[in-house]
Amino acid sequence: MRKVQRTVPAPADMGTEVIGIPEGTDLELKLRLEAVMEGVLVSGTISGTAVGECIRCLEEVRLALDTQFTELFSYPENQVVEDADEEVRRVENELIDLEPTLRDAVVLALPFQPVCREDCPGLCSECGALLADDPAHTHEVADPRWAALQGILADGVPSGSSETDEPNDEKES
Ligand SMILES: [Zn+2]
Ligand SMILES: [Zn+2]
Repeated sequence: MRKVQRTVPAPADMGTEVIGIPEGTDLELKLRLEAVMEGVLVSGTISGTAVGECIRCLEEVRLALDTQFTELFSYPENQVVEDADEEVRRVENELIDLEPTLRDAVVLALPFQPVCREDCPGLCSECGALLADDPAHTHEVADPRWAALQGILADGVPSGSSETDEPNDEKES
């Protein structure tokens, strides 16, 4: 059995559309390579920093990733007729291509819907403002019929009058 530990620059596309390990950033690999009957069994851990976008507020999300994997790389001469659905990884010219395996492991470990924090309130659906910065933020949701009425009322109220019936629940705390 051989143990290998090294830090490599992350290849392209290490992740999904929403989050991934940026190309060229450090990917730390700790691998164990074992010769078995059918080929080489590679197992180990991958660590790196994934960067993505919060699906709610679009702010940057950074995630320390540390995931394990195990993959058997078969010798070509030992190919059994496998299930067509199952992707078989092979030892070719006595080399193994780890990249697809690493990519699969990373993609599996990443969240499908990254959020900057579990309770991220996201963006205001009305104006797009960051609700985390301004959680009390509201808009008067006017029914179009009321909006028309409000227009009439606004015209009818003499300016300078502070006694309007506008609901204003903003409390300064
Ligand atoms: Zn967020
Ligand atoms: Zn808003």
